[in-house]
Amino acid sequence: MSSLKAKIQDVFNEPGCEKNRGKDAKARKKGCTKPLTPGAAAGGCAFDGAKIVLQPITDVAHLIHAPLACEGNSWDNRGAASSGPTLWRTSFTTDLSELDVVMGQGERKLFKAIREIKEAYAPPAIFVYSTCVTALIGDDIEAVCKRAAEKFDLPVVPINAPGFVGSKNLGNKLAGEALLDHVIGTVEPDDAGPYDINILGEFNLSGEFWLVKPLLDRLGIRVRASIPGDARYLDVASAHRARATMMVCSTALINLARKMEQRWDIPFFEGSFYGITDTSEALRQIARLLVKKGADPEILGRTEALILEEEAIAWKKLAAYRSRLEGKRVLLNTGGVKSWSVVHALMEIGIEIVGTSVKKSTPEDKERIKKILKHENHMFETMAPRELYAMLSKHQADIMLSGGRTQFIALKAKVPWLDINQERHQPYAGYAGMVELVRQIDLSIHNPIWRQVREAPPWDFQTSMKDEPPSSKSKTATVQGFKKFAGTTADDFGEC
Ligand code: SF4
Repeated sequence: MSSLKAKIQDVFNEPGCEKNRGKDAKARKKGCTKPLTPGAAAGGCAFDGAKIVLQPITDVAHLIHAPLACEGNSWDNRGAASSGPTLWRTSFTTDLSELDVVMGQGERKLFKAIREIKEAYAPPAIFVYSTCVTALIGDDIEAVCKRAAEKFDLPVVPINAPGFVGSKNLGNKLAGEALLDHVIGTVEPDDAGPYDINILGEFNLSGEFWLVKPLLDRLGIRVRASIPGDARYLDVASAHRARATMMVCSTALINLARKMEQRWDIPFFEGSFYGITDTSEALRQIARLLVKKGADPEILGRTEALILEEEAIAWKKLAAYRSRLEGKRVLLNTGGVKSWSVVHALMEIGIEIVGTSVKKSTPEDKERIKKILKHENHMFETMAPRELYAMLSKHQADIMLSGGRTQFIALKAKVPWLDINQERHQPYAGYAGMVELVRQIDLSIHNPIWRQVREAPPWDFQTSMKDEPPSSKSKTATVQGFKKFAGTTADDFGEC
């Protein structure tokens, strides 16, 4: 536990984080997590965060050393996609019972589970996650993993991020530390080249990285490791031979990017694949860093040519939506990198941003938003559900883009809503992803269901028939409502 304490202090000390740099030594020691409000939803635990970052490594067996509930708690709630292996989606847990705890059987059960997985699935590696119960009873997962790795001649990686040590974000970072300590740099690739890059903090949600990878392929740039989206163990293990890194989500893996630069001299930059301008800028930055590290400068010209061609295609497709969406007002209730990159992307086609949440944004993210948005007061830290509902029901926005947790506030206010967080089913990255995002916004806003749900309901008609004379306004409105329901066909609902 003492080594875990030291690791947490090290993560809290992250010099790559601007917010952290602004703190004094005492404040830094306390970490970033605010004390939780009793009774309030707390979000994920550190174990959850570690698993979010590592589970999309698709050929690894992820073994949770815990009672069953820890695995069930966070099972399969994100839409990362794999282009091959399916092992990552098989749930492995030691399923500790009270009896195992009382009898001190935890470590023995863990070793047995590792053996079973090795024999049944022969994965290239097994990741073993500690959790609250197994950390509190003192199970030494590092020792068990070391012994199992020797015995079975297989990488068995301890992920020491039990839930109680802190927030989901701390767990993200501890997962990055585990990769640094046990995985990255353990395999030497025989095909390292001057155009190899790493992408960090890209989760391949709904397969959206597959909209970006073909662009890199066309430039002759190889993604040595995308961590974690659609990654393979051996690619992650040889990620130290990449020449440059693009960091997509800095809040999750800034420590990994910085330490890889320190240890293996891999320069990194933070960029985004959301929006046309940001995608182009990310491609330019990758090319520039590669040239800086020895690649042929002709790649800069090829990158500009590709950007020119792809932007023209995307703008042509988006032109069809401009007249339908120009001036529409969007409320963005998300966080992190999306709080600025999506804002920028939507403003590119004339959509107005009436608010964007910056709760999970870094100071750098906030600075970027300030530059993009004309009115700083359109940034909000948090908005209580009641305020959100009031804003939407007064029709101050035409659509809300957010995660699933707030969808019912929009639906109750009879305002269109689009999922933009990890559970979404559409890919929004790259040029094609931007076109898809705008298409989905258009479909949501113009879905005929909104006209219908905003009308007076049929039962008002029955009440009004009893209480009011037949000529009343209420009756007229509701009779129209009945007619509309009667005349609706499936085609009226478009693709939604
Ligand atoms: S690790 Fe701890 S906080 Fe996280 S799900 Fe398990 S018991 Fe709950």
